[in-house]
Amino acid sequence: TAQIETHEFQAEARQLLQLMVHSIYSNKDIFLRELISNASDALDKLRLESFRDKSLDVDIDDLHIDLEVDRVARTLTIRDNGIGMSRDEVVGLIGTIAKSGTGELIKKLREAKNADGAAAGELIGQFGVGFYSAFMVADTVTLLTRKAGQTEVTRWSSDGSGTYTVETVTDEPDFGVGTAVTLKLKPEDAEDQLHDYTSESVLREIVRRYSDFVTWPIRLRTEKTKDGKTTHEWETINSRKALWARPKDEVSEEEYREFYKHISHDWLDPLRTISVKVEGTFEYQALLFLPSRAPMDLYYRDAKRGVQLYVKRVFIMDNCEALIPDYLRFVKGVVDAADLSLNVSREILQQDRHIQLMRRRLVKKVLGAVKEMMTDDRVRYDTFWREFGRVVKEGLVEDPDNRKAILDIASFASTHSADDLTTLRDYLDRAKDGQEHIYYLTGASRSVVENSPHMEAFRAKGLEVLILTDPIDEFWVEQVGEYEGKKFTSIAKGQVDLDTGDEESDSEEKVDESSFDKLREWLKTTLSDHVKEVRLSNRLTTSPACLVGDTHDIPPALVKMYQQAGQ
Ligand code: ADP
Ligand code: MG
Repeated sequence: TAQIETHEFQAEARQLLQLMVHSIYSNKDIFLRELISNASDALDKLRLESFRDKSLDVDIDDLHIDLEVDRVARTLTIRDNGIGMSRDEVVGLIGTIAKSGTGELIKKLREAKNADGAAAGELIGQFGVGFYSAFMVADTVTLLTRKAGQTEVTRWSSDGSGTYTVETVTDEPDFGVGTAVTLKLKPEDAEDQLHDYTSESVLREIVRRYSDFVTWPIRLRTEKTKDGKTTHEWETINSRKALWARPKDEVSEEEYREFYKHISHDWLDPLRTISVKVEGTFEYQALLFLPSRAPMDLYYRDAKRGVQLYVKRVFIMDNCEALIPDYLRFVKGVVDAADLSLNVSREILQQDRHIQLMRRRLVKKVLGAVKEMMTDDRVRYDTFWREFGRVVKEGLVEDPDNRKAILDIASFASTHSADDLTTLRDYLDRAKDGQEHIYYLTGASRSVVENSPHMEAFRAKGLEVLILTDPIDEFWVEQVGEYEGKKFTSIAKGQVDLDTGDEESDSEEKVDESSFDKLREWLKTTLSDHVKEVRLSNRLTTSPACLVGDTHDIPPALVKMYQQAGQ
């Protein structure tokens, strides 16, 4: 007869379990993600092992993960036909926690628990405790397993208190290779419609949310009653479309579009698809999309932003801000990293060096894709810039390392054309020889800027002026300073030399400036509350006078923004 052994959990494992059983974790649904991810790993391992060890007699053509519910007994079973575990492995792997940082977690959990049970829950969620998360929803957990290549079947069972039992079983002669984890669900969850894990719709929803792109089929045993007859069938409930993991040329445009719509909830097609695959010590794949229209909440401070993060096809989080800077917050997509813990928290992501490298690479890819679009599909580029240019320009301030790259893909209204925007490259190509400046004027709208008296001399001399009308323009243009060695120069500030090298226009008669001294003095006294200084100028052609800011004055649009912000 089978010998049942009772073991104690290793000390840390026991402490952790206890804290978990008694914590209120707001997101206990993740237990299913954890168990499915273990099953998926086990299938990956079996497939790999069968390639390596040809003598291993296993069938890898029908690998899957099954979910089966018994409503009467209130059990949920997660069954895989993967690599399985030997008896020793069960004791070693399930009875202990080998994860680094466990001690630290327990300490933090204790502190948090004294203050607030929910905070403890959040910590558990962040650390992730894999298999043990089953105890958040189950009174007892039973695991039955058979390792590939072996005949012995092992049963492990625990109620999450200090001990567990293991036995080698003989009552399951037909148990195939793989592992079945059966949860005796807590009775209280039966009352909670959203967390009744015997409900088909609840299971479907959790799988869709957390495990849709697991590459193995996740099948649910469904029950249908027709004409008084009940039938069962296995229905695959995940889409398995890990498009990013498939070679680019094997995925159709149509599939990319559908996927984009699925993750973005947009009903328009994306403007551009960017697929990234990086191999080496820190492997990842990304599938990013530029939408064709700015979302309503692009400028809301609390808007959701960022891409989805997966670790080896297992969904980890939505709106992962750490992977995409704020000024590219409209980018949608998925990043799948091979070497991250399933349980990375947002805090850890913000500090992780690999994540920072990844982010830099993704930024380059996005900016590169826009640049490509500029040359190979100008119409799309124009749409892009119209929808997102204002946001991208924030990057000129936010991300100094990429200033040049951002200016390269930027375009601006200018006096050169009433309809078309110009790139800085084109501006410089049109500039006269010897022009050391990129002239610009900021203002609330194109017509305000065009009708500014500051424009007169520039118009008269045929000098092109950029018309900058976005509030953000005031910020970056000051900070960025130059493009390809040419200085951004406001035509509304200080003394602008009209340095065109264009000699003939300097042949105007010289006036005797001192003859205006009396008029200047009078104007200065009369307007003393409003102006600092009154100067003679050669920049006006038809207007008699204009207001000029000091080179270091706060630009008017900024003054307005500060006022609006209540400062
Ligand atoms: P992690 O998955 O992070 O290693 P878990 O607590 O989820 O931590 O699982 C612990 C270990 O138990 C796994 O690493 C694996 O070796 C083993 N294990 C868990 N579930 C299964 C399974 N379904 N099939 C085979 N091995 C499993
Ligand atoms: Mg796991």
